[in-house]
Amino acid sequence: MTTFHELQLKRAVSTNLARHGFEKPTPVQAGAIPPALEGRDLVASAQTGTGKTLAFAIPIIERISATEVKSKQPPGVARNRELRALVLSPTRELAMQIEETFTKVAAGTGIRTAVVVGGMNESKQLRAIQSGAQVAIATPGRLEDFLTRKLVRLGNVETVVLDEADRMLDMGFLPSIKRILGQLPESRQTMLFSATIGKEVESLIGRYTREAVRIAIGAAVRPVEAVDLHVYEVESDAKMRLLTRLLDAESGSFLIFARTKHGTDRLAKRLSSAGVKATRIHGDRTQNQRNQALRGFKEGDYRVLVATDVAARGIHVDGISHVVNYDLPQAPEDFVHRVGRTARAGTRGVASTFATRAERSEVRRIEKAIGVRLVARD
Ligand code: ADP
Ligand code: MG
Repeated sequence: MTTFHELQLKRAVSTNLARHGFEKPTPVQAGAIPPALEGRDLVASAQTGTGKTLAFAIPIIERISATEVKSKQPPGVARNRELRALVLSPTRELAMQIEETFTKVAAGTGIRTAVVVGGMNESKQLRAIQSGAQVAIATPGRLEDFLTRKLVRLGNVETVVLDEADRMLDMGFLPSIKRILGQLPESRQTMLFSATIGKEVESLIGRYTREAVRIAIGAAVRPVEAVDLHVYEVESDAKMRLLTRLLDAESGSFLIFARTKHGTDRLAKRLSSAGVKATRIHGDRTQNQRNQALRGFKEGDYRVLVATDVAARGIHVDGISHVVNYDLPQAPEDFVHRVGRTARAGTRGVASTFATRAERSEVRRIEKAIGVRLVARD
């Protein structure tokens, strides 16, 4: 498959893809979309930034719009429609980004989405479902809460997607995922997307998919090849000076990872007082604050976003030219996900890792895990 055109998608879907500049499917899309359109179960592993969202959004939208009957009932009458597709995502931010993608591709098809995530007003989310959304994009915690309170039913769900399955398991969502999947019809289609497929993800696959088509794109743990990986040996008290130097020397936006919430706040504050437009996201900020920070960064109001690892997975911001690991990540996998925030969809990026002398062995561990040497800079 070389163009989306060859897939003979609904006219509205084709038009939407073209309007947003999507012409050629990425490898994971080329592999996933045809079997997904046939209703097959699917397991796909691919690096971050390879276009997994459209790989499941396009078939879901196609399949729903193929059978969607326009409601003839007057507005205001309860239509009693139910959810037909469910996407589970590890974080609120990712859920909202997935929804944005759905909204773009589904424009004009009559398909509506509802986001179901914690930390935000629930009545709005419930209204979206009750007024006939066919697709819900949810974090497991909030969805389970709605299910327990019998506010949402999943009995008509035809397709379920587990996005970033490895991450959801890391976050301890397994019990919750099992309970949610237990409420879905047996005959549904299941699609699972993951950067890495370890033992635990494999057991999820064994239990919840049937004759799944397997797609593996590239080495799952290797950072995208288009990123220059630099490492600076720098003691803690000199990190700020080094960061300022990088900010002066290079143009473009910076996503900076710090280890703790407190460290994130402190660094953003120091940058702001140094005259750099900086904002921050971490788990202790309210959802509104997190949304605002992300939006401001996306729109260029801020040049720097300082974040803890909550932001590392799945979030996509166009044109991040530089990722800085101000503090080393806890685990080598997090390194891959942090670095995957830059150089997405065909552009080049730089990732600079700050490590103290005492952290040399930790850097070696990361290099071993990703199979690449970081280039020493000073
Ligand atoms: P992943 O989930 O694999 O990390 P995303 O679905 O978030 O990746 O997509 C990463 C970026 O690539 C997004 O900016 C998206 O708009 C872009 N993208 C996805 N598919 C295509 C395509 N076929 N052509 C061009 N850009 C694409
Ligand atoms: Mg993704």
